[in-house]
Amino acid sequence: MQFGLSVKLMGYVMAGVLITSAGIGVVRVNNERGPLSEMIGKAGQSVANATASGAASLIAGYDYGNLEILAENVSQQANVIHVMIRNQSERVMAQTTSEQAASFKRFESPVMFNGEAIGSVAIDVSTDSLENALNALYWRVFFEQLIFGAILGLIVYFFTARGIVSPIRNLTMAMEEAVEKGGAFVSRDLKVRSQDEVGRLVTVFNALNKSLASYHHTLKGKIDFANQELREKNNQLGGRTQELERALELVNTMATTDWLTELPNRRKFDETLSRMFHQSERFSEEITLVLFDIDRFKLINDTYGHGAGDQVLRDIGTLLRLHVRKSDLPARLGGDEFGVLLYHTSIDQAEIFIEKLMDGVRTQVFDYDGFQLKIGISGGVAQYIKPMTTPQALYHAADMALYQAKKEGRGRYKVYSESNLSQELAAS
Ligand code: GH3
Ligand code: MG
Repeated sequence: MQFGLSVKLMGYVMAGVLITSAGIGVVRVNNERGPLSEMIGKAGQSVANATASGAASLIAGYDYGNLEILAENVSQQANVIHVMIRNQSERVMAQTTSEQAASFKRFESPVMFNGEAIGSVAIDVSTDSLENALNALYWRVFFEQLIFGAILGLIVYFFTARGIVSPIRNLTMAMEEAVEKGGAFVSRDLKVRSQDEVGRLVTVFNALNKSLASYHHTLKGKIDFANQELREKNNQLGGRTQELERALELVNTMATTDWLTELPNRRKFDETLSRMFHQSERFSEEITLVLFDIDRFKLINDTYGHGAGDQVLRDIGTLLRLHVRKSDLPARLGGDEFGVLLYHTSIDQAEIFIEKLMDGVRTQVFDYDGFQLKIGISGGVAQYIKPMTTPQALYHAADMALYQAKKEGRGRYKVYSESNLSQELAAS
C-alpha cells in the first residue's frame, strides 16, 4: 500500500509522541521513587526503633502477654504488615501478621536494656501503595505527555502539510494536467505562498511553464505557417495534377480515336477484339465480327474531291453509331473500311444488323456542297468458332467474307462459313 506524504508525516509525529511520552513517564517515576522510598524508610525505621524501646522491659521481664499486645498494636499501624520480636538468642517471643503484600521492606532495630542488647524487632512495611502510586503517576504523566504531544504534533502537521504537502500536491497536479493535455505546459501560474524552498520550487515551476508555453507558441506558429505553405503548394500541385490528368486523358483518347469520324480507331479495335476473343474462348460466349467497306469510294474522292470523301466517312460514322448497341464496338479500321464487334450476338442477329445498316446507307442521301451523293457498302460477317485460335483468325474470316461480297458485285454482305468460302475462293 502506498501512503501519501501527509499520512507518513502524521505517522512519524504520532510515533515520536508515543516514544517521548513513555520516556518522560519513566524518567518522572524514577525521579519520584527516590524521595518517596526515603520517606517510607525513615518512617519504617522510626516505628522499628519505637517498638524496640517499648519492647525492652517486656523482653527483660519475659512478659510474653504484653509483647503480643505491643506487636498487635504496632501491626495496626498503616502499611505495617508483619511485626516480629525476638530475644538475644533469636527466639521469637511475639509475632503478628496483619495483611499480605506483593512487595515490602523490612526494618530492624536492636532491643537495648541497660546498655546491653537483649533482642531485636523486625517490622515489614508494605510498599504496595508506593508502587501503586508510582504506577498511577507513570500513566498520568504518559497520558498528559501524549495529549500535549498530540496537540503539538497536530499543529506541526497542520503547518507542515500546508507549507509543503499542499504546494507539492498542487505542483504534481499541474504537471499531470500538462502531461495529459499533451501540451507540456499549463495555462495558469501556481500561487507562491511562501519564500522558502517550496516557494522557490513553485516560482521556478512557473518560470519553466512560461518558457515552455512561449516555445510552444512559437513552434505552433511555425507549424501553422509551414502547413499553410504546404496547403498552397498542394493546391498548386493539385491544379497541375488536374491539368496533367486532362492532358493524359486527351492523349489516351487521341491514341484510341479516329480523328475524322471520332469512332474508336484500329488500335482500340484490335485491343478490344483480342480481349473479347479470349473471353469468348474461355466462357464459350457468342461473338460476331462485321466488316464493311464503302463501294467505289475512290470515285467519290476523284469526282467530288477529298473533302466530299471525308464528309461521307464522317456521315457513315454517325450512321454506324446510331445502329449499334452499347455493348458493341464500332470502329474505323482505316481508309473506307469499318468494323463492328458484336458481343453476345449470333450470326442471325448479326445479319439483321448488317442488313439494317446497309438499308440505312442505301436510303441516306449524302449531301456535300450542293451535291447529293448516294453510296453503298459491302460487308463480311464471321462468328467466332472453336477452330479459330487467334483474334486474327476471326478478323481474317470476316475479311474473306467481305472480299467475297466485293467479288460478287458489291452492295451485299457475305457470311463466313468455312466450307462455302473456301470452295468459292478456290474457284476464283
Ligand atoms: P471498292 O469498292 O473495291 O472498295 O473500291 P474503292 O474505290 O472504295 O477502293 P478502295 O476501298 O481500295 O479505296 C479506298 C480509297 O479511300 C483510297 C483512298 O484514296 C481513300 N481514302 C483513304 N483514306 C481516306 C480519307 O481519310 N479521306 C478520303 N477522302 N479518302 C480516303
Ligand atoms: Mg472501298
